[in-house]
Amino acid sequence: MEKIKMTTPLVEMDGDEMTRILWQMIKDELILPFVDLKTEYYDLGLPEREKTKDKVTLDAANANKKYGVAVKCATITPNAQRVEEYNLTEMWKSPNGTIRAVLDGTVFRAPILLDSIKPAVRSWTKPITIARHAYGDVYKAAELKAPEGVKAELVYTDKEGKETRETIYDFECPGILQGQYNKETSIRAFAHSCFKYAIDTKQDLWFSTKDTISKKYDHTFKDIFAEIYENDYKAKFEELGLEYFYTLIDDAVARVIRSKGGYIWALKNYDGDVMSDMVSTAFGSLAMMTSVLVSPDGNYEYEAAHGTVTRHYYKYLKGEETSTNPMATIYAWTGALRKRGELDGLSDLVDFAKKLEEACIATLNSGVMTKDLVNLAEGIETKAVNSKDFILEIKKNLLSLY
Ligand code: NAP
Ligand code: MG
Repeated sequence: MEKIKMTTPLVEMDGDEMTRILWQMIKDELILPFVDLKTEYYDLGLPEREKTKDKVTLDAANANKKYGVAVKCATITPNAQRVEEYNLTEMWKSPNGTIRAVLDGTVFRAPILLDSIKPAVRSWTKPITIARHAYGDVYKAAELKAPEGVKAELVYTDKEGKETRETIYDFECPGILQGQYNKETSIRAFAHSCFKYAIDTKQDLWFSTKDTISKKYDHTFKDIFAEIYENDYKAKFEELGLEYFYTLIDDAVARVIRSKGGYIWALKNYDGDVMSDMVSTAFGSLAMMTSVLVSPDGNYEYEAAHGTVTRHYYKYLKGEETSTNPMATIYAWTGALRKRGELDGLSDLVDFAKKLEEACIATLNSGVMTKDLVNLAEGIETKAVNSKDFILEIKKNLLSLY
């Protein structure tokens, strides 16, 4: 067949360890034979970040802003042990954090469903997409340990030096304290990303906070969402038959468990962190979770929800066979190629993304899978294969669709 043409380059962000190995296999076997691939390549692998003093990450994020669509491999976020292992001059920041700071977005995570893997919650027949606000709250909080007998206050000071105070607690015994914040600009960006993504994927949007208890903090999130919905999205939602539904977080949790799925659940930073692990585990596996960062001005960064799978990489380095699941990384590629195709009006590129996903599902439905899934699958005969054989089986199924 003739290779599918592209017009605008995709921003390609390579990464680390086992996922870097999978990245190359996916490109060689599943993309390059079919697509005349145009990418602007950035190596976000830790050695290159060290070599460029992390400039490569910032360049990649800016390229994402310029071209609109990126695909990212999992990357190491250095800690003390990695500083030693890679001989780093600095503990470079999380690339995801750097990219998020440039794009100012929301992370959407959705599971890939299989007939043979039943969710732990029996009523779930459609995916639940988690939309996590990835800025502020407890992740940027100031904390103190309060000794006995102190009075704790919340204080802000304006430009003229005038103070506004609120008593938190008079401590008759030792205690603990925390000060959180968020920014209206970030909450607005979060809301716009959620409404746009709901329209994009034609799904209802749920949003939940604890506004009855947190009458200023959480209530501000609720009010901003309500205002933006009324002003900017209500008409489009009604036209598409979609619903925007706000409820308290405890009510939302109960409703999610009783639901069939098939909607986006928007959550504040901490709630999203916790609920996305709950939802992905209940659907099966982190290796079957897709993830995309969407910015309010319409930039997209597709990635896998899992890390670089270090444990498997060390086995790989010793020459041992590994059975790492490449599904989430393949779906990062299909997500990015589909979006690029949609933006550039390239229907055969969109069609290729769809076919590649179909080939993945067909492979799994035939029982050929990586080790992590073998124990989860029910009602079919399974065969555990290594990553390479799994990818080659997908390629065979993809070829049969052309
Ligand atoms: P991880 O890479 O997600 O792996 C944790 C464990 O989950 C693995 O050891 C493996 O379990 C299982 N697993 C994850 N993905 C899998 C896959 N595709 N196929 C099969 N099994 C899979 O998390 P980590 O080991 O905590 O972190 C490793 C590195 O990744 C760290 O340096 C961290 O900074 C980085 N990280 C990057 C990102 C990102 O770039 N988005 C996200 C998270 C972490 P078994 O060992 O039991 O098989
Ligand atoms: Mg977490």
